Amino acid sequence: MLLKDGEYVQYDFIVIGDGTVYIFEIKNNSGPYRYDRGNIVNRHHVVIKDYRPQLERAHTMMEHFLRMHGMIMKVVSRIVFINDSFSLAGFNGDARMVFHGQLQQVVNHLKKIKPSTYECEVGQMLVGAHVDKYPYQNVRQVAVDVIDPRLRCQSCRQLIAEIDTMKKYITCSCGRKVKREDIMLANLREFVLLKQGAFTIQEAMDWTMSPKTTVKRLLRKHAVKTGIGRATKYYLK
Ligand SMILES: [Zn+2]
Repeated sequence: MLLKDGEYVQYDFIVIGDGTVYIFEIKNNSGPYRYDRGNIVNRHHVVIKDYRPQLERAHTMMEHFLRMHGMIMKVVSRIVFINDSFSLAGFNGDARMVFHGQLQQVVNHLKKIKPSTYECEVGQMLVGAHVDKYPYQNVRQVAVDVIDPRLRCQSCRQLIAEIDTMKKYITCSCGRKVKREDIMLANLREFVLLKQGAFTIQEAMDWTMSPKTTVKRLLRKHAVKTGIGRATKYYLK
């Protein structure tokens, strides 16, 4: 959902109930990371900025948006790391960050929520305020690490929950059946458009939700390799 309150603000998931508007920002970082003086660093020494300021901005803007529309709701916001391989060594914990091991707890809580008539009105107000088209088309301004890298159905744009790399075809809940390789490649092409440059095998794994062997097979067919060893990068043909 994209809202405009002076500035634009985007929300991955919003759940309303319990007198609360829950904001969930989804991250799909994979593999081991360490927390180092405010930075999140992975094994390739790639430094990712702390996601919490971005969450705080979305949180504050939601509070303001609701207040401006005369709606009285509490706002709770969480960053949800959905990838079970993600770990963050040296991190002291923060209630705003939910790791894979805590997901079930969150799901159990959400299952108990029954929105009231008033809360449905809050939801309808937010849906009505959704801005359909982001007016700035400059993709260079998009930070790749804030885009959800999971696979999307090319027909309905729904996220594909998981893929079976043993199967040749994926069937989306909208009914569209596509070759797994085609959808992996389409997602990778979107990533390349955002990133505008060469990518690493780890990035290709993240953006195709696939293990190294599967990705290597795909890249052999559709990409050109540059560099050697840890400096190896790929361009799509
Ligand atoms: Zn679909």
